[in-house]
Amino acid sequence: MAFDIDALRAKPGEKIKLSKIKPNSTPEWDYQDDGEDKARALELLPALNDRLERLQDLLYAQGTERVLVVIQAMDAGGKDGTVRHVFDGVNPSGVKVASFKRPTDIELAHDYLWRIHQHVPSDGQLVIFNRSHYEDVLVVRVAEIVEEKRWKKRFEHIANFEQMLVDEGTTIIKIFLHISKDEQKERLQDRLDRPEKNWKFETGDLGPRAQWDDYQEAFEDVFEKTSTEDAPWYIVPADRKWYRNIAVSEIVIQTLENLKMSFPPPEEGLDQIVIPD
Ligand code: ATP
Ligand code: MG
Repeated sequence: MAFDIDALRAKPGEKIKLSKIKPNSTPEWDYQDDGEDKARALELLPALNDRLERLQDLLYAQGTERVLVVIQAMDAGGKDGTVRHVFDGVNPSGVKVASFKRPTDIELAHDYLWRIHQHVPSDGQLVIFNRSHYEDVLVVRVAEIVEEKRWKKRFEHIANFEQMLVDEGTTIIKIFLHISKDEQKERLQDRLDRPEKNWKFETGDLGPRAQWDDYQEAFEDVFEKTSTEDAPWYIVPADRKWYRNIAVSEIVIQTLENLKMSFPPPEEGLDQIVIPD
């Protein structure tokens, strides 16, 4: 049976309760909890990687479509791991990851979309946003970095900005990796316990953890106000990494397949050409 990515899509205007979506669930995947399905998923991933590699090759060769994949999550939600596993094997010439950290002074001296717009994909490119302009209605809201009457207007700016990109030829998908608070604790603990992961630990991440419910509510508002037919949000249960990788691969692959791309027509008379000695 095909993986129906629509099952994960936030419908426009839909008020989603994240507490109703189990982060360890595996929608569209009949998980038996007997280990077998996990093994099957791990076997399937290389085949999905191959399909994505071929589609991205086509995107690059055709050179007319632009694709933007936005990834958001709580800290330790698996953004980096998702990028590593889902895009394993793609041609680096046509793929770019843009990570949005705390804004610099220069960035803060501009409007919040200024730094974002510079990184949107050009013709034939696939760009992955690791965090994005959504931070400006998430951390900025919860940590009260700007006042409410300012961030509230941003949902509309963002929807309009994305619609402009879509109207001008960009395909946008937005992915939320939904982990549980317990899973985050384990992953943060792992960053403390393993020397090669220590560099990822930031005491500052404990702040957002303490405000977990406020962040979940902020995310729910984001889905309600900015998931559109043209730039949909997908909510991916992400406690189980193998499921997360399969689900995100399916979302990206099916979206690229829908573009119905083809290789550019070859020069005429190629079959007559003899390569000189
Ligand atoms: P990981 O999840 O693996 O820890 P990361 O995405 O958290 O990776 P970091 O460098 O640890 O990467 O953190 C980036 C930080 O920048 C986050 O705390 C995020 O909330 C913050 N940030 C991003 N955009 C903004 C913004 N517009 N305003 C304020 N903070 C922001
Ligand atoms: Mg971090």
